[in-house]
Amino acid sequence: MRGVKAEGGWAVVSTEQIEIHPTGDFSPGTEGRLWSDQDIPYLARMCDAVHEHGALAMIEPVHNGKWTGNLYSREVPMFTTHMPVPSHNYPLQARAMTRADIRAYRKWHLDAVRRARTAGFDIICCYAGHNLSLAGQFMLPRYNFRSDEYGGSLENRVRLFREIIEDTKDAVGDTMGVVVRFAVDELRGAEGLEADKEGREIVEMLAELPDLWDVNVAEWHNDSQTSRFAEEGYQEPFIDFVKQVTSKPVVAVGRYTTPDRMVSLINKGVVDMIGAARPSIADPFLPKKIEQGRIEDIRECIGCNICVAWNNMAAPMRCTQNPTKGEEWRRGWHPERIAPKTDDGSVLIVGAGPAGLEAALAAGRRGYDVMLAEGAAELGGRVARESRLPGLSAWARVRDYRTYQLSQMANVDIYKSSILGAEDVLEFGATHVAIATGARWRRDGYGRTHQLPIPGTDGGNVLSPDDIMAGLRPEGRVLVYDDDHYYMGSVVAELLVADGHEVVLATPDSLVASWTGYTLEQHRIQARLLELEVEIITSHALQAITADGASLGCVFSGKTRSLDVSAVVMVVSRLPNDNLYQELAADTKRLKTAGIQTLHAIGDCHGPATIAAAVYEGHRYARELGEDKAEIPFARELTELAQEFSLP
Ligand code: ADP
Ligand code: SF4
Repeated sequence: MRGVKAEGGWAVVSTEQIEIHPTGDFSPGTEGRLWSDQDIPYLARMCDAVHEHGALAMIEPVHNGKWTGNLYSREVPMFTTHMPVPSHNYPLQARAMTRADIRAYRKWHLDAVRRARTAGFDIICCYAGHNLSLAGQFMLPRYNFRSDEYGGSLENRVRLFREIIEDTKDAVGDTMGVVVRFAVDELRGAEGLEADKEGREIVEMLAELPDLWDVNVAEWHNDSQTSRFAEEGYQEPFIDFVKQVTSKPVVAVGRYTTPDRMVSLINKGVVDMIGAARPSIADPFLPKKIEQGRIEDIRECIGCNICVAWNNMAAPMRCTQNPTKGEEWRRGWHPERIAPKTDDGSVLIVGAGPAGLEAALAAGRRGYDVMLAEGAAELGGRVARESRLPGLSAWARVRDYRTYQLSQMANVDIYKSSILGAEDVLEFGATHVAIATGARWRRDGYGRTHQLPIPGTDGGNVLSPDDIMAGLRPEGRVLVYDDDHYYMGSVVAELLVADGHEVVLATPDSLVASWTGYTLEQHRIQARLLELEVEIITSHALQAITADGASLGCVFSGKTRSLDVSAVVMVVSRLPNDNLYQELAADTKRLKTAGIQTLHAIGDCHGPATIAAAVYEGHRYARELGEDKAEIPFARELTELAQEFSLP
């Protein structure tokens, strides 16, 4: 994965945070580890992959302090002070570090530095970002009540970070670059670090110590904001002072995907280099494309944080825009290269949502003659519709990138306003047919909480998100019932408020849009709805819709309450639009007569899920066309038993 980024032109490719010791064990998160020499080989392999393409490899060794529950190592967590471990409200506390602990921590960091050098890294990052590292946590008065030389004055609170940087510099001399990553502001006002107060003073104190400053804001949910809540470059007002107080070069992130914006940032003297995580996930070849003047080929990050969500779920990373993300090694998928087709057949794709568009693009790139038929007058399917909802306009990039690329391909024909039935598909004479006709929201309430239709949902006062996106509006006070728990319920509520409705949002969960905790948005969504004066009712399931309104029941006590609303928008679950697929699949003889060799349902028509899943399914369909299918279609990392084993 990192080798692909180096190939894509990124000058420096860095690891994420790498654990340095069992007392800072982030399990069950999937973190890199450098606890002992045993961890060197896999990191050395990353360095080799990065070096192969002429880039520099950077590593970020970290001890997370109070954030780790040490679930794997069973060590007692350590922190500046005695404090409960906040992650997942684990029933355990971190203990206050002694002077001996501090000395040990410095040694672990130094050991990690030496191991990183052995692994072949070129740059080492001393990390105090995101409120995620001990060195950074020591700086904050709200955590640091020490009376020794590491507490009290700012100089004392910064001492540990200074020591870590100096230890590192002494150890590596001029063999490695030393970067300091520091969050200059925590976006929590006077209670936290502020860029115009101690944030600035700390940069001034350490100004000339590192070889490069890498600056941002804390915590991670502020650093990695979604496009729903923050524009490209949202960190700029906080970090723009840094170059004024140091002569060392400065790098910063901010979901930069626009080359003009990057150039202006450098011309204005805000930074010397552009940093990126999500833009490099969505398009590992972003720098190469800029270098080659292929700006329109950049696959811009849409700022949805699906990548972050899968990281937070301790699952392999994926990306809405880049279906090859996380599949570089295990499936051998390259973001810019795809194997040529192995047969002379043609491909008909029905439906031009994210699945159909990506399938057409990838099949077209393999050299197939592709026909893409879309029933609507516009391309994009759900992405076109959903990008018109409040805050989601950047999601249209999923459509725009693909429609532009398709428009450049002579072997792809697109038919808009063409609703195809089974007969039409058979008449097309394509060898391969993919049905990507999407899904529709149900109105009956069937889903996670209810497995029988909710009484009253067959009335005229019940709408679905599809109705809302099609422009239908209810009368009067509206209940948005959210048993989906992702973004849709909250954006429908926002839209209805903007249209002048009084809105109640009820959910059986204890939080609004609870799954968006994984995308780092939950608290922002709930805050926004409260600001908009949406009445929020949590832990209540919809029981019935009546002529007078709705009845809700507490999911714990069963106690009911009635709600005076005149309409309900059901955001619960979806059904695939798979009639066409089922009709075609039912008669294999007719398929054969028509010359259709393969028929697949892809995307939401196959199984309603995220936009990322639809893009991935479209891509996978095209990759696997004409290929033999393996039982397990990807390589796995398997633990091997050591040849010799003896107890110490
Ligand atoms: P996905 O997320 O799987 O790509 P979408 O719902 O975004 O699914 O897109 C499905 C697209 O298929 C929609 O744009 C819809 O207009 C189109 N569609 C549905 N049925 C037909 C059909 N019979 N013929 C052509 N297009 C269709
Ligand atoms: Fe960007 Fe979304 Fe991809 Fe993450 S998943 S890199 S936020 S497009």
